[in-house]
Amino acid sequence: MDKRIASPKQTQEIIRAHRFTLKKSLGQNFLVDANILNNIVQAAAIDAESFVLEIGPGAGALTQILAAHAKKVVAIEIDRRLEPILSETLQEFNNVSLHFGDVLKIDLDAILRKEFPPDAPVIVVANLPYYVTTPILMKLLMPNMPFCRIVVMIQKEVAARLEAHPGEKSYGSLSIAVQYLADASIVLTVPKTVFMPQPNVDSAVIRLDVRKDKKVAVADEAFFFRLVRASFAQRRKTLLNNLMNNLFSKNEKDAIQAVLEEQGVDPGRRGETLTIEEYARLSDALQYLDK
Ligand code: SAM
Repeated sequence: MDKRIASPKQTQEIIRAHRFTLKKSLGQNFLVDANILNNIVQAAAIDAESFVLEIGPGAGALTQILAAHAKKVVAIEIDRRLEPILSETLQEFNNVSLHFGDVLKIDLDAILRKEFPPDAPVIVVANLPYYVTTPILMKLLMPNMPFCRIVVMIQKEVAARLEAHPGEKSYGSLSIAVQYLADASIVLTVPKTVFMPQPNVDSAVIRLDVRKDKKVAVADEAFFFRLVRASFAQRRKTLLNNLMNNLFSKNEKDAIQAVLEEQGVDPGRRGETLTIEEYARLSDALQYLDK
């Protein structure tokens, strides 16, 4: 039997043979199209020297192709029931290390330290479970993580938000949080039909090139993110109203207005029109009003 499982027939066969039942609650929509998998690996620019982290290997379709191209693959899977399937689908590879646990709770630092050489850049590649896409991305983008590139299949709408620019419908606090740390570009949009079972939504592969230096410098990062979240809290309201209602208070209206004007930002603008650079400038100027 061909050991590659990225086809509807092979995936079905192995699932049946192991009497495995897919769990919708864990986002178990397996990829069954070898072309898409190859495109993902290509977009991630994996070569024989690459160290790769995969989240959610499932039955191992993507893991197989990663292992065939990379130096080493470490995969973290929440569902231990997949262990016998993965042992079978990955048996020909000696460069894959599996860990079972929730990627959001597991000690990722310890795993990375144990599995990869110190200071080696690591590439993340995954077909992410849609129910936890944003928290997983936020964890991967935390400071001190060794990732140089993150290439993940996610829901198309979320991919659009990660890539969006000021003035676009999808532009929001998530766009800014991600673009603060990485350059985001959609590399592929993917129809539902390449998954088993088919999800309700279309998907896209997004590539995040993590920057060594941040896009903008801010004095107080925590305040910067509170400012951004507050500015988008009610999309139809003006920046001034959002800041008054969601970050400061009505009493501070005049002071906020003065700072915005001083920084050359019209208080009547909406949060969705401001660039990251403008948010950074406002963050440094407004943090003194924060108590
Ligand atoms: N990589 C496989 C593929 O492309 O066919 C499976 C992808 S499937 C969309 C998502 C996988 O992530 C499932 O195997 C699921 O069990 C796993 N998963 C879900 N939540 C997880 C979590 N919090 N931590 C680690 N793995 C998780």
